[in-house]
Amino acid sequence: MNYRHSFHAGNFADLVKHALVLWLLKERQARGSVAVLDTHAGAGLYDLSGDAVRSREAEAGVARLMTAEARPPLIEALAAEVAALNPQGGVRFYPGSPVLVARALRPEDSYRGFELNPPVEALLQEALATWPNATGQAGDGYEGAQRAARGLKSPLVLIDPPFERPDDYVRSAETAAAVVRADPTATVAIWTPLKDLETFDGFIRRLEKAGLARVLVAEARLRPLNNPMKMNGCAMTVVNPPSGAEAAAAEICGWTVQALGDAGGRAEVWRAG
Ligand code: SAM
Repeated sequence: MNYRHSFHAGNFADLVKHALVLWLLKERQARGSVAVLDTHAGAGLYDLSGDAVRSREAEAGVARLMTAEARPPLIEALAAEVAALNPQGGVRFYPGSPVLVARALRPEDSYRGFELNPPVEALLQEALATWPNATGQAGDGYEGAQRAARGLKSPLVLIDPPFERPDDYVRSAETAAAVVRADPTATVAIWTPLKDLETFDGFIRRLEKAGLARVLVAEARLRPLNNPMKMNGCAMTVVNPPSGAEAAAAEICGWTVQALGDAGGRAEVWRAG
């Protein structure tokens, strides 16, 4: 297991993912209590003065977010979360999905994140220590989330693998399908990189073959998808999206491409299934 999210924290793909996660959470909270399951939690909170300095991905992502003018509301909401973690100013700390969600929980809500890598899981426990209804759990998140979902009503499930293993696409699709089969009112959001189109299309076909009918795809392509060795963009695929998700995704992907993409960039929000 070589993947370290600390190199990528705060990059453009985190911004797309986290702005949409914040919106999904707020939307679900408006309709009652929410139980969030996070298959791949990571460390929870990132100090960008470490690995991120070497990768320079946060410099091209969250650093530009925080200095951007005229941020639309859903991008502003993420910027406010980042600002709250950096009361001295600057952008030293960036929230991973666990801390982002934990900060927004009400007493009736809950969060459970799974992490397979022991040192990262220790950081996750530390990051969540102050929130009693947010827990980190060691182990495989695909299996853990499916098991945990059985005891919950309408969970919001986040799937965010490193895609360093070839079966991550298959297991993500299978986990989404199993969760929705067990509870058709569940919402599942899956993050994927966009490198070349066929890999992503194959993933969407897999969801369709599994019988998932209500699928929203939000793509932020920073440049043309013509280099399979490079992350040219990213997508959030939402199964059973709440109403309003299309507009939310268009606002988030549109800002990201316009502010951080090059001339060949494109934001696409469309329905599959
Ligand atoms: N979701 C996090 C966020 O938004 O802040 C980032 C997660 S990062 C992309 C992926 C994490 O999944 C890594 O920390 C990696 O160690 C962990 N991981 C890899 N395979 C896993 C598995 N099968 N179950 C749980 N965690 C896994």
